[in-house]
Amino acid sequence: MTSLAVEAPDYMSEDLRIFAGGVAKFLEREAVPNAERYIQQHQVDRELWNKAGEAGLLCASMPEEYGGAGGTFAHEAVIIDELGKRGIDGWGIVLHNAIVAPYIRHYGSEEQKQRWLPRLASGELVGAIAMTEPGTGSDLQSVKTSAKRDGNHYVINGSKTFITNGGTANFIIVVSKTDPSKGSKGISLVCVETDEVEGFRRGRLLDKIGQKANDTAELFFDEVRVPTANLIGIDEGMGFVQLMQQLPQERLIIAMQALAVIERALAVTGDYVKQRKAFGKAIIEFQNTQFKLAECKTEATVAKVFCHYCMEQHLAGKLDATMASMAKLYLTEAQCRIVDECLQLHGGYGYMNEYPIARMYADSRVQKIYGGTNEIMKVLIARSL
Ligand SMILES: Cc1cc2nc3c(=O)[nH]c(=O)nc-3n(C[C@H](O)[C@H](O)[C@H](O)COP(=O)(O)OP(=O)(O)OC[C@H]3O[C@@H](n4cnc5c(N)ncnc54)[C@H](O)[C@@H]3O)c2cc1C
Repeated sequence: MTSLAVEAPDYMSEDLRIFAGGVAKFLEREAVPNAERYIQQHQVDRELWNKAGEAGLLCASMPEEYGGAGGTFAHEAVIIDELGKRGIDGWGIVLHNAIVAPYIRHYGSEEQKQRWLPRLASGELVGAIAMTEPGTGSDLQSVKTSAKRDGNHYVINGSKTFITNGGTANFIIVVSKTDPSKGSKGISLVCVETDEVEGFRRGRLLDKIGQKANDTAELFFDEVRVPTANLIGIDEGMGFVQLMQQLPQERLIIAMQALAVIERALAVTGDYVKQRKAFGKAIIEFQNTQFKLAECKTEATVAKVFCHYCMEQHLAGKLDATMASMAKLYLTEAQCRIVDECLQLHGGYGYMNEYPIARMYADSRVQKIYGGTNEIMKVLIARSL
């Protein structure tokens, strides 16, 4: 190894390499030239979703019979990697594909799969999942949003905040209480097609320090009526169990996103320290630079090997909640440390938004917060002690 490229055992098959080539081409054509504009307007263009649908990027791991591309989670991993390599971090396609759609696939009725998955795959529907509320984030079982049964409808009341894709999503899985007296056993996942209902309102797009290309938003539900057929699963009260079963995949996704940023940070920093000069020599020639990058490369290699191990475990259906929490904790902490070191090696230019490392720094911080904070990851890991 003679560069800052991080090597680890590879899970890529020939089929995945071809898919990666297609994803790369799509992103280079449709997203990269517009990336700066997405950041300025705090969202991607709505038509990007439809174009991604046409190109087979949406619902890449959903079965073909429901309009998906028939891939596995490894196809989603490819998308994460290709987005990360290009710094297209704000687009919520991974949440749409690998967090929202799986709830329908795993717990939805046949009728729900046919009704929603093909439209998620085409981009007609853009997905979001609304768990967090102004009053509760980590303590998910304390959500207040209610879905009260009224004949063959639920009437939803409450508000959600920090919702990724919130400014655009027209298919929202709302974590709500169908029985407020039962704590976590009273939680259900109820889907709202926002174009079909009254009483739904979006708040402002939130002004974040990073991830600026995503339209993270507040959502308000005021007497929103949806058919009881929009409950995910057969019985009420299964929402918390469904969330706990799917959150390991979400945490692995965050770990993989961290890895992509780590690799990009090292690549851009490697280039920078070779061309920038001080005291008559390139920055790379200072021993401090070499030691810092040696530490970063070591940590990145450990992170990558561990991440790929978790990925293989997940593909084999063996990744448990503890290991997924460890992956999210370790990779995101490593991401923030490495990006910070890399920014330091850029000097003042590292603080300027026109340098990719500055954006990576601001974008990285939230990785320790969402998907369950890293403190909550430790709570979960500690349960296994
Ligand atoms: C950019 C962004 C995108 C997001 N996207 C989504 C989304 O799409 N959907 C969604 O539902 N949510 C989303 N979130 C919300 C995110 O998941 C929550 O912010 C997160 O779970 C933390 O909840 P909170 O903000 O209410 O913090 P709190 O729960 O109030 O936590 C505050 C602090 O207390 C600590 N803490 C809490 N409980 C414990 C404990 N038991 N032990 C030790 N420490 C504890 C936390 O770790 C944290 O440091 C997003 C957030 C951001 C910033």
